[in-house]
Amino acid sequence: MPMSSVNPANGSVLEVFETWDQVRIDKALATAARAAANWRALPLEERVALLRRAAGLLRERREPLAGRITREMGKLLREARTEIDRCVTVCDYYADHAATFLGDEPMEVAWGRALRVHQPLGTILGVMPWNFPFWQVFRFAAPTLLAGNTVLLKHASNVPRCALAIEEVFRDAGLPDGVFQSLMVPASAVAGILADPRVYGVSLTGSEKAGRAVAAAAGEALKPSVLELGGSDPFIVLEDADLDRAVEQALVSRFQNAGQSCIAAKRFILLPQVADAFLERLRAGVEALVPGDPAREETTLAPMAREDLRDELHAQVEQSIAAGAVAVTGCRPLPGKGAWYAPSILDRVTPQARAYHEELFGPVATVIRAQDEADAVRIANETRFGLGGSVWTRDLERGEAVARHLVCGNAFVNALVKSDPALPFGGVKDSGYGRELGRDGMLAFVNLKTLRLG
Ligand code: NDP
Repeated sequence: MPMSSVNPANGSVLEVFETWDQVRIDKALATAARAAANWRALPLEERVALLRRAAGLLRERREPLAGRITREMGKLLREARTEIDRCVTVCDYYADHAATFLGDEPMEVAWGRALRVHQPLGTILGVMPWNFPFWQVFRFAAPTLLAGNTVLLKHASNVPRCALAIEEVFRDAGLPDGVFQSLMVPASAVAGILADPRVYGVSLTGSEKAGRAVAAAAGEALKPSVLELGGSDPFIVLEDADLDRAVEQALVSRFQNAGQSCIAAKRFILLPQVADAFLERLRAGVEALVPGDPAREETTLAPMAREDLRDELHAQVEQSIAAGAVAVTGCRPLPGKGAWYAPSILDRVTPQARAYHEELFGPVATVIRAQDEADAVRIANETRFGLGGSVWTRDLERGEAVARHLVCGNAFVNALVKSDPALPFGGVKDSGYGRELGRDGMLAFVNLKTLRLG
């Protein structure tokens, strides 16, 4: 099956790519293995210099790369520019900290000397999604490459041109042949690649279903895996919240990238004292969103990335309404070509609705009314997911206490959940395991070797 690059704003096919056969895959694996030996032997300062060059090229190519993202997966052009900027930041962050994170650490021992030494594992496979087609790759690749590993990228099948553009950035920055390669392969090739002895681990960002498949393949092959899967993050509004700020951030969190973010606020859990006021303001903000050409400045709502994803979202919404949820606004596909969905709010969502339990990966806000703070925390944790969550209150101590009770990897008080190069990022429960970013992200694919001297 060839891979197609389709503009989701109008459904037009931009390019078609041949997928690789086994011979081509084998060639890439052999190249990566050859490159790995030299790459790990390169002094860290040289790897750092090459990564800084890659960051420089991202800066230079910001406009064409952002345009490519917008055309291939639909996000607003200004959001695509921000995505490129974040890739620069993550490269710079790891270039600045690699020596500290990877340096030898002496350990207290009764006799002689002992050191913690960080060494690369080898070639690591990244299975990446389309929703942040550059950011997700760079946040995995920057620390993994600097640690001395080589990288194979199996990108999502709907963003092949982004995959090739990323490979080009690394190649043009001067990374030796085979250190970073984009594989033009379907999902069905992943288990075989992971089983190959020349591959030493896998990092996947994507759906729970893909996570289960890749974790099983990694288990079978006895290789380490990091899984960053979906989320259904709670956004708890307590009665003393600054509603203007909470609504403003709710709109950004839920509707940027057309709602297609794992850490978007997805369940708005409201206390009775503020529920109606919050909902009214949210509704006004949602109804003011302007769908349209994602490259235009005045557009504020992008199309979804694919029509099948839009159709699945609508099925979730329809079932939720049939189960008693109230359609406050939107809740329907928009007419015309492309993967458009109206910005939407579902109110009075109960456990009978799919929206209560499932991830809604699109521009739909789920509102759940809680009785009090304890009930809000109970609802927030009544989910299979555990990626992020936020709480909104003027009382910071109370906010911290609630945040500590959220069963998730990233809990924020009075701020929308977002990833930052310096902060470890990941989930618990069905949101996955392992951490990206921060020092933990750099150590995900290293051999922490105990070295005993004397
Ligand atoms: P997938 O999880 O299917 O895709 C993510 C990546 O995993 C792609 O590279 C995909 O390849 C690959 N993949 C899929 N299935 C397997 C498998 N069995 N073995 C190995 N690799 C696999 O996401 P979808 O595009 O289908 O989106 C579906 C849903 O996933 C969304 O609605 C959302 O809920 C969730 N999602 C979550 C993301 C997050 O950031 N956590 C990101 C994207 C999606 P290929 O494209 O070739 O199938």
